Amino acid sequence: MMTSVIGAMERIPRVPLATLPTPLHEARRLRDALGGPDRCPRILLKRDDLTGLALGGNKARKLEFLVTDALRGGATVLVTTGGVQSNHARMTAAAGRMVGLPTSLVLSAAPGEREVQGNLLLDRLLGAEITFVEPPRDPMKLTGPDEAAALAELEARLRARGERPYLVPLGGSTPLGVLGYVAGALELEGQLEAAGARPERLYVACGSRGTAAGLVLGARLAGASYAVRGVAVSGGDPASTAFAVEIANGAAELLGSDARLTPDDFETDQSQIGPGYGRSTPASLEAIELLALTEGVLLDPVYTAKAMAGLVADIRAGAIDPAATVVFVHTGGQAALFAHAAELAVATGRVGGRDGSAR
Ligand SMILES: *Cc1c(COP(=O)(O)O)cnc(C)c1O
Repeated sequence: MMTSVIGAMERIPRVPLATLPTPLHEARRLRDALGGPDRCPRILLKRDDLTGLALGGNKARKLEFLVTDALRGGATVLVTTGGVQSNHARMTAAAGRMVGLPTSLVLSAAPGEREVQGNLLLDRLLGAEITFVEPPRDPMKLTGPDEAAALAELEARLRARGERPYLVPLGGSTPLGVLGYVAGALELEGQLEAAGARPERLYVACGSRGTAAGLVLGARLAGASYAVRGVAVSGGDPASTAFAVEIANGAAELLGSDARLTPDDFETDQSQIGPGYGRSTPASLEAIELLALTEGVLLDPVYTAKAMAGLVADIRAGAIDPAATVVFVHTGGQAALFAHAAELAVATGRVGGRDGSAR
C-alpha cells in the first residue's frame, strides 16, 4: 500500500518550497512536567513549524502543490485571503516570491486591528498588495461577510490590469492542497518506522481543515497506527467536517485511490475554542508558557496553543494510556506571537511590557 501511494504522490508535480523532512523529536521535559511516565504518554513533536517559507508552518506543504498548479496555468499573480494575522497569507506571499510571482491579499480586520506587526508586517515586507475587509461578525467564524465580494472585485481589477490571477482558497484547503498533508503523513510514517514508534494518537490544530483532511487520508493510505484527533480553533461543525471529507475524497481521487472517508473518520475536539477564533483562553496561554519553559519550543496563540491545550487536557483527564505514544504536529504560526505581545505579557507576568521592562 505504502509504496503505491508514494508512487502516486511522486507522479503529481510540485515545486519544492518547504524544508523537508521536518524533525520529529521527543518532548521529555514536557512529559516530566505533565506527571512523568506514570501519568503522561510519550510525546513526539512533529516540527512543521520548521518548514521555512518566511518563518515556517503547515501551509508550506500545501503551497508546493498549489503554486505548481498556478505556474502550470500561467498565473501572473497569486491571490488569497485570511485574517489580518493569517499565516497562510504570509506563506503564500513568501511562496510567490520564491517562484517569482507577486501576491495580492484580502485580509479581514477591524480598523483598530491593523497594526503592522507579526504576519501583517511580513506580508508588507514580502511586498504583498493588501485589501482590507471587515472581520466576521461571529467570532467563531474564519471569514468575514464581505470577503467573497472583495475577492471577486480584486480578481476583476487584476484581470483589467492584464494580470492572470490564481486564487488560493482559504487556508489552501482544496483537494490539491490536501495532498501536501498526505505527503506529510507519509513522511511521518517513515520517521515513526525508523524510530520504532507506534503512536496511538496524533494531535493537530484544525482551522480550514485541509491539514486534518490530509493527515487522516494519509494515515489511512499508509496504514498508520494512530487516530488523528483534530482540535478545533474555530466553530462551524458539522459543516467543517463535511468539508474535510469532501476535500479528502477529492485528494484520494487525484491520487487514483479508491479510498473514501466519511464524517466518522474525523474526530474533532471542540472544547478549546473559547470565545472564538484568534482569542486566547487561560488553557492556551498556559500551553504557550509550558512549551516555552520545558522544551524551548514556541507555540502560536491562535492554533497550536489551543491544540496543545487539548492534548494537555486529555492527559490530565487520564484519557491517554501513559504507556502509549502520541504525536503532536506543530503547525507553526509563531509570527502571530508578536501581534499578541500585550496579552502574553499579562498572562505570563514574565514577558516585558510595552516599555520592555520584564518582571
Ligand atoms: C492554518 C493553520 C492551521 C490549521 O490548518 P488548516 O489546514 O487550516 O486546518 C494550524 N496551525 C497553524 C499555525 C496554521 O497557520
